Amino acid sequence: MGSKPDSRNKPQAPAFKHRVADMFNRGMDIYYLVLVVPAIGLSLFAQILVKSRFAKYSQIKSSRNISGRETAALLMRAHHIQQVTIQQVRGSLTDHYDPGAKALRLSDPVYGETSIAAIGVAAHETGHAIQHAVSYSPLGLRSALVPVANIGSAVGPWLAMGGFFFAIPLLINLGIILFGGSVLFYLITLPVEFDASARAIKILRTNRVLTESELEGVKKVLTAAALTYVASALTALMSFVRLILIARDREQ
Ligand SMILES: [Zn+2]
Repeated sequence: MGSKPDSRNKPQAPAFKHRVADMFNRGMDIYYLVLVVPAIGLSLFAQILVKSRFAKYSQIKSSRNISGRETAALLMRAHHIQQVTIQQVRGSLTDHYDPGAKALRLSDPVYGETSIAAIGVAAHETGHAIQHAVSYSPLGLRSALVPVANIGSAVGPWLAMGGFFFAIPLLINLGIILFGGSVLFYLITLPVEFDASARAIKILRTNRVLTESELEGVKKVLTAAALTYVASALTALMSFVRLILIARDREQ
């Protein structure tokens, strides 16, 4: 009866509390396990999915038999983009559009290959070049947030953790705000990526680069790629929420 016999019957309760405190000290707190770990799990799943789908559709040649480079050149001509250069870049899935250099960089399995996967990725990067040409505002915002994101993700969590360790609320808040900037970057990346893929499908169709059944393959590759961005944004957001929850717990 009462609380005393109960607590005697649960000798493991303080030990568990101690363990949680210990886990927190190692950066493996309960919020990390519940919020961040599932997001990291989704990221790993998305990485595997995009690699397997890219590999699958890299094996299927397009009926029109044009390469990633030729696709990008054709689509940019069709959309009156003249000042963007197409370059070859090392690695796999390293394809990107660089707005500063006005360069569309295609990886080895995309640049010279005529597969459905290669054409899909080339069209997606062309989608970014078109976004730039039409001043699609989320792209501009995303570019502006790059330095904020770099500083925020590198310094923010450490400042907050230092703040927790030395019990300095100002440091905690500063760390959380800085990290928030990088979360914003990951979130604004989502509409930019979804829009580039939607443009890719549209321009491949209107310029008759691929048939409808070939476009289904492109959709599968680009959807998997989009999932990797969703997972990254979710990981950043959950890490951010975790910091806020830890800060709130410390205040109490
Ligand atoms: Zn993209």
